[in-house]
Amino acid sequence: MALFEYAYDVNTPVHPVSAPDYMPVEQLRALQLHRLQQLVQRCYEKVPLTRKRMDERGVRPEHIKTLKDIKLLPFMMKSDLRDEYPIGLAASPISEIARFQCSSGTTGKPICVANTWNDIRVWQEGTMRCLAMYGIRSNDVLQVSYGYGLFTGGLGLHYGGEGLGCAVLPTSAGNTDRQLMLMHDLGVTAIACTPSYFLRLIDEGQKKGIDFRRDMKLKHGIFGAEPWTQAMREKIEDLTGITAHDIYGLTEISGPGVAGDCPHRTGLHIFEDHFYPEIIDPDTLEPLPDGEEGELVFTTLTRTGMPMLRYRTRDLTRLSVNRCPCGRTIRTMDRINARSDDMLIVHGVNVFPSQIETALLSVHEVQPHYQIILTPTETMDKMEIKVEVTAECFSDDIKSLENLRKRVFSAVNRIIGLSPTITLVEPYSLPRSEGKIKRVMDLRKR
Ligand code: ADP
Ligand code: ZN
Repeated sequence: MALFEYAYDVNTPVHPVSAPDYMPVEQLRALQLHRLQQLVQRCYEKVPLTRKRMDERGVRPEHIKTLKDIKLLPFMMKSDLRDEYPIGLAASPISEIARFQCSSGTTGKPICVANTWNDIRVWQEGTMRCLAMYGIRSNDVLQVSYGYGLFTGGLGLHYGGEGLGCAVLPTSAGNTDRQLMLMHDLGVTAIACTPSYFLRLIDEGQKKGIDFRRDMKLKHGIFGAEPWTQAMREKIEDLTGITAHDIYGLTEISGPGVAGDCPHRTGLHIFEDHFYPEIIDPDTLEPLPDGEEGELVFTTLTRTGMPMLRYRTRDLTRLSVNRCPCGRTIRTMDRINARSDDMLIVHGVNVFPSQIETALLSVHEVQPHYQIILTPTETMDKMEIKVEVTAECFSDDIKSLENLRKRVFSAVNRIIGLSPTITLVEPYSLPRSEGKIKRVMDLRKR
């Protein structure tokens, strides 16, 4: 069947780079198996830790006869990357390494990965396939406001944009005034940054009287690198009139461009011809069928520098059972609203910050800026949520402000079942971020 027959919208024909997204399923599975077998052989030969663990389990590369046999293989975790720091897990000699990248270290000491040129090309292909899926084309001007350098956000989107033929503006993060000026002057149509940094750009714009709808040509936001909710997406779209696309990735697996959402928004399509996904039960470590929620695990089928076999991401999601109406055969996963490391246990109740975000943003007057503060007290832990509300609310009388506070409290209480202290604060009073934002201050951890 011709590729164009799969197009989801006649006005947005499928970009040639998207061809593997539509591979017939049997062909895709056969390709995945072939790549997996080659990868396991390579890791067994070249990565001492993998060989040791496979030997301990009595598993040899030739035991991988079907994709299901992946469950015979040992897992890899962030701690392995730390223990083997900096490049003990590399499967290529230094002469073949083209570039190192490091993770941002959200959950501790950063880890280092070693990429060959082949890996950089695969990574670029992932970001190109994402951008093409969003409808971005060579006539778009792409501002890359993710940080450049060791963090994969900036360089990842930069290569993707260039590969697609966009005019790329490599601003990196920071210097918000200049970002806004260039966005306006160069007629930027797409921006890539963390959702929290885009909120900051909106803020600074508002202070200068900039109306994104009126003063900017911006149509697409490419947001990722941190959890953000559907409620946040709607808020951003509402404030600026742009379409907010979701892009997912992690340094250990390549960087942004492991998955992204198509215009049908059925979830994020995973480029599974390169990044083979599994969902496991985080307690029993058993694989779960598509449709069930658990921890996302990836195997980098084509990576040569530092391949990952069954890498446990700690991100929680589920794989789709149904095919997306866009015709792509690669599976989707639900948007990542939580990573298991983010889970807070308050008064014995499990709470994810994303649940609080959804609750807060369900109240119209609430701005998308908040902070969750947990403090120990003699009797019980205290949870306070500080949240910004519109300037108009602040000029209202005390009684209406108190009413608003009660509404925010009920929204949060309904979703998480706890009774936190809600403090309404003035616009621009909470910290903003240039990269990944830290919204939780858990002072109970010493
Ligand atoms: P880390 O933050 O672990 O130091 P990275 O900078 O590589 O390392 O970030 C990868 C992590 O960022 C992912 O495992 C995931 O938790 C989060 N992330 C990336 N993209 C998204 C997204 N679109 N939605 C939610 N979370 C995301
Ligand atoms: Zn789709």
